[in-house]
Amino acid sequence: MTDIVPAPAAWEYAPAPESRAVVTIAPAYGLYIGGEWVEPAAGERFATISPASEEQLAEIAQGGEEDVDRAVRAARAAFPGWAALPGAERAKYLFRIARLLQERAREFAVLESLDGGKPIKESRDVDVPLAAAHFFYYAGWADKLEYAFPGRPQPRPLGVAGQIIPWNFPLLMLAWKVAPALATGNTVVLKPAESTPLTALLFCDVLRQAGLPAGVVNVVTGDGRTGAALVAHPGVDKIAFTGSTEVGKSIQRAVAGSGKRLTLELGGKGANIVFDDAALDQAVEGIVTGITFNQGHVCCAGSRLLVQESVAEQLIAKLRRRMEKLRVGDPLDKNTDIGAINSAEQLARIEELVQSGRDEGATIWQPACRLPEKGFWYPPTVFTEVAQSHRIAQEEIFGPVLSVLTFRTPDEAVEKANNTPYGLSAGVWTEKGSRILWMAQRLRAGVVWANTYNRFDPTSPFGGYKESGYGREGGRHGLAAYLSLEEAGVGGGEA
Ligand code: NAD
Repeated sequence: MTDIVPAPAAWEYAPAPESRAVVTIAPAYGLYIGGEWVEPAAGERFATISPASEEQLAEIAQGGEEDVDRAVRAARAAFPGWAALPGAERAKYLFRIARLLQERAREFAVLESLDGGKPIKESRDVDVPLAAAHFFYYAGWADKLEYAFPGRPQPRPLGVAGQIIPWNFPLLMLAWKVAPALATGNTVVLKPAESTPLTALLFCDVLRQAGLPAGVVNVVTGDGRTGAALVAHPGVDKIAFTGSTEVGKSIQRAVAGSGKRLTLELGGKGANIVFDDAALDQAVEGIVTGITFNQGHVCCAGSRLLVQESVAEQLIAKLRRRMEKLRVGDPLDKNTDIGAINSAEQLARIEELVQSGRDEGATIWQPACRLPEKGFWYPPTVFTEVAQSHRIAQEEIFGPVLSVLTFRTPDEAVEKANNTPYGLSAGVWTEKGSRILWMAQRLRAGVVWANTYNRFDPTSPFGGYKESGYGREGGRHGLAAYLSLEEAGVGGGEA
């Protein structure tokens, strides 16, 4: 008689953790100014923690006004030499940085997931490869700037760029900002977000390996006060900011009348619009990606689902079935779909907005899922019976929380999609190409995806309308933000 092994009740995943051994984290970090590590003038530091375990990872320098001043001076001193280099020479540094990011990809991916809580499969397959791709892409432009803007054959760099980035894509936002600034001949002072500074600090080691001249890129860590000092510094020619609309508005007020150039990449409340002729299973994948990618900490997240009434019931049933299969947990596990919420503050904000959804009368659904005891976690959440006036239909939640609304006609879909203060992204799901084009012309969104969602490419410009900000990053448009396109001999760029 043969032994019969009973089949497992359900397919289970074994843990598949990525090793932490590939990263070395120093107990404390300084500021990277003029190609050297320096102590913060006031000697102040704060902790950066892993949001998945609340374990302290390192002590980070709190840069003050004096430190910002030192960094801006270093960037100013480096500017004439860097701007005078032939574009092809600057390109060599960018290519080197891109290749080093690829060589050290595993290290960057693990560090990004540890510090920020995002699943390793995303940092490994999206954040790090896309960061390298941005450096490759802008390296290609560095010696072709005179052909980038027809009729303006002598574009000139602006000078020192102050760049302030958020915590949701720390390395990728760095790449979006640093790559075009360097390609166009500007020098940089970068201020990473306070909860996720580690990959920007590791990036300084890449700059050292690439032999980038001292002072061309300086990194000053710290909180909002450090950012504000950078915005206010008279030696800065351009501010590039990615973050919340609230802080973006305060920066706009601070630079008004100063002559500084400004680009703002702010919040969003993207609509994913599904018509009754769409491939529904495919749409479900896009809806799930749209709202759970990076725990929903995505400015262009598809956080409102607009579904045509005739297929709403069917689509929501499919969506729930799919969401029940999502795995929430250890960001370093390669099977994890949803990692940790970035911080206790962000978790509190998500909880507060979800409570408002309940209080205002929307219906909440969450799959049964066990959340780890330590750290900050939130399950995927779907609200139905949502009215346009509800806060969860208007405000950016920045978490894995989807608000579902319905529509009957394409006009109504456009009306509802555009009915927020934001205008960053949208998705359209239909089999008709003509309808995609019709919708894209009417949606007030900087990016419209068709039958896909959250696709990024360095060659494609990204940016917003209305309270989502202005200016574009990526593509040829991303160069314009760092160049004076006046006639030769007029405009900024003075050393
Ligand atoms: P945030 O505005 O609180 O902080 C962003 C950065 O600004 C941080 O580095 C912070 O230290 C700094 N900062 C804070 N106060 C400042 C001040 N007064 N002056 C100068 N700098 C200051 O935003 P966050 O919570 O880190 O990021 C989430 C927000 O970013 C969301 O609203 C999201 O939509 C947005 N975002 C937008 C894009 C885009 O491309 N449009 C991309 C990613 C994130």
